Amino acid sequence: MGLRFVDGLEPACVPDFDVLRLLVDRLVVDFFVLVTDPPLVPDDELAECRARWRAGFFCAASAVEAMANAAISATSRTFMVLRIIGGILPFGTIHDMTQGIERALVAAIDAERDAMRDLLQALVALPTENPPATRYRPCVELLQATLVDLGFEPQTVDIPSPADAPRTAVRAWLGDSGPVLYFHGHYDVVPAASSSQFVPKVEGDTLFGRGSSDMKSGLVAMLYAARALLSTAAPLAGRVGLLFVPDEETGGEFGSGALDAAGQLTPPGKEAIGMLLPEPTSGVVWHANRGAVTLEATVHGRAAHVALAHQGVNAFERALPLLNRLAALAREVERRGSVLLVGGRVEAGSNFNVVPSECRFTVDRRVTPDEDFEAEKKHLLALFADARADGLDLSVRVIQEGRAASTPPDHALGRALADSVAAIKGEAPAFEPCPGLLETRFYAQHAIPAYAYGPGILAVSHGPQEFVKISRMIECAKIYALTAARILAAA
Ligand SMILES: [Zn+2]
Repeated sequence: MGLRFVDGLEPACVPDFDVLRLLVDRLVVDFFVLVTDPPLVPDDELAECRARWRAGFFCAASAVEAMANAAISATSRTFMVLRIIGGILPFGTIHDMTQGIERALVAAIDAERDAMRDLLQALVALPTENPPATRYRPCVELLQATLVDLGFEPQTVDIPSPADAPRTAVRAWLGDSGPVLYFHGHYDVVPAASSSQFVPKVEGDTLFGRGSSDMKSGLVAMLYAARALLSTAAPLAGRVGLLFVPDEETGGEFGSGALDAAGQLTPPGKEAIGMLLPEPTSGVVWHANRGAVTLEATVHGRAAHVALAHQGVNAFERALPLLNRLAALAREVERRGSVLLVGGRVEAGSNFNVVPSECRFTVDRRVTPDEDFEAEKKHLLALFADARADGLDLSVRVIQEGRAASTPPDHALGRALADSVAAIKGEAPAFEPCPGLLETRFYAQHAIPAYAYGPGILAVSHGPQEFVKISRMIECAKIYALTAARILAAA
């Protein structure tokens, strides 16, 4: 094993004494070699070094190579070479420093288990239900305060949105320059089955509550991954950009969609290296997503008392031919391996003895990456246009619209993510397309590689018994930190 200096590191990479001591305490590095150039450093500085570092030895630059090699061949797994020049301590690394940093990241996250669980409970207790978009403000404030506590300088980003429903994203940066790896998540949740879902409950390793799986545990994992990268002074040739947005559960129109349209999602001048999204992927990586066109149609009629039904216009009956045509299209789409859900939500009339004046229903078309999104959307909308042409009094509202997107699994970020999952879990993950819409699309459409991988389970997300395993949240924090350390590794 030879000795290798890494020179020219930025002063910003310099770990302070406390960080060095942390590395020694956790046995991440076995010892330090302190190189002085010129050989003599002020006595008081050397004394401080000796006092504060339990491990390590000190020598002049001229003698370091022989001494370091002797030390390595004895017992060391990892050591650091520190060079004092003019009182500054840039630090160089040798052979398996990468492993050393990764052990430090894992140890730093393990030490925060209780804090992570407590933060998840606090986030779940805030009912950021969407629709209708409640309690966003306190959630933004909690995320900001947490970022400050963790050593970051958060910014809020006002999102173009209706004046009576202002929307805010929270952003923070780790590092000053170089390409950005985005840690992107949403803080809104789908409406709860009951208000008790906002009283988080911990049973052993399981935390129950709305948003625990989708995706507040993911936000916590990303926050503490960034914190670990900061506290261990992991050498990054780039930045991590944390971005937490609202309104994902209603399609992102006043969340990521508006930020993207305003050029705020990936700010100009900041080259992006990739994006990670902590959706509940149930252990696999989602590298692609279906597109979606989701509509709400309202057929209009005229109300009348049942005894005078002939004077009314029954909106439900008038909707039936259109619904039948939509159902026939759904069967055809299914035969092609795609999805059209008719009537996910249906409502009509006010009582059994009143002719319904309105019939409202939803239509949710999910388009696979190999289908032509525009052609499929046109085909669907044509059914509504035909019904109107036949005299149906009909209005249609677009609830959400988003395109399919994909990133090849073998992109450098995909490999770094898979390797990191394997390092933590002992097994590489499968890559699969997501059955739903994903905010990875906002990045993938700008040719930025984007993957979803998170602690939650899809099958329990949005359900009445939503939960997450706390240990999975810890694992994901480690996986995000390792992925960032690998993809942004200083050359
Ligand atoms: Zn989600």
